Amino acid sequence: MSFTAGVVAVQGDVSEHAAAIERVARAHGEEVTVREVRESGVVPDCDWLSMPGGESTTISRLLQREGIAPEVRDHVAAGKPLLATCAGLIVASRDANDDRVEELGVLDVTVDRNAFGRQVDSFEAPLDVTGLDEPFPAVFIRAPVVEEVGDVEVLAEWDGRPVAVRDGPVLATAFHPELTDDVRIHELAFSPERAVVE
Ligand code: GLN
Repeated sequence: MSFTAGVVAVQGDVSEHAAAIERVARAHGEEVTVREVRESGVVPDCDWLSMPGGESTTISRLLQREGIAPEVRDHVAAGKPLLATCAGLIVASRDANDDRVEELGVLDVTVDRNAFGRQVDSFEAPLDVTGLDEPFPAVFIRAPVVEEVGDVEVLAEWDGRPVAVRDGPVLATAFHPELTDDVRIHELAFSPERAVVE
């Protein structure tokens, strides 16, 4: 089978996400075409979607301005997988507690944008994640804190706070799985059997 994956390329670790997606597809013997998403019209062609970290205010503003935001909502409503990392999690959330962020509302959580960042700018921690046999080396950079969770599955916690959650086809992390060689989070998000392909 062959898949099309989109990486929201407004800002952030775009090539790292693309590389991780390609490795997951290869490991499963699948073909994948990765497309960068900068304007409307690309997301409707994508089976998988990834929304990297960066600055959530900038990313959400551009998603709205370019008309990509409703396409991402449709993607999720169709049950197609979305991996949202760090700023991507903030943008995907129901409420980012910041007027400068226009949330997509596809992930039933509220967040505090820079909560970990206020304590310590960045750190790495081995994280137990539901669905993974071994701890995941999680890199946190000015990471958001998930404050309230609605109808989501919490896959990992750090310091008593959710840092990886799943809401149907949406998998979101407060950390940056694309910044390690470990592609198991991408694999969890995009296991080919989850993808909607004809
Ligand atoms: N805290 C940043 C924001 O609000 C996200 C940081 C990140 O993506 N590394 O957008």
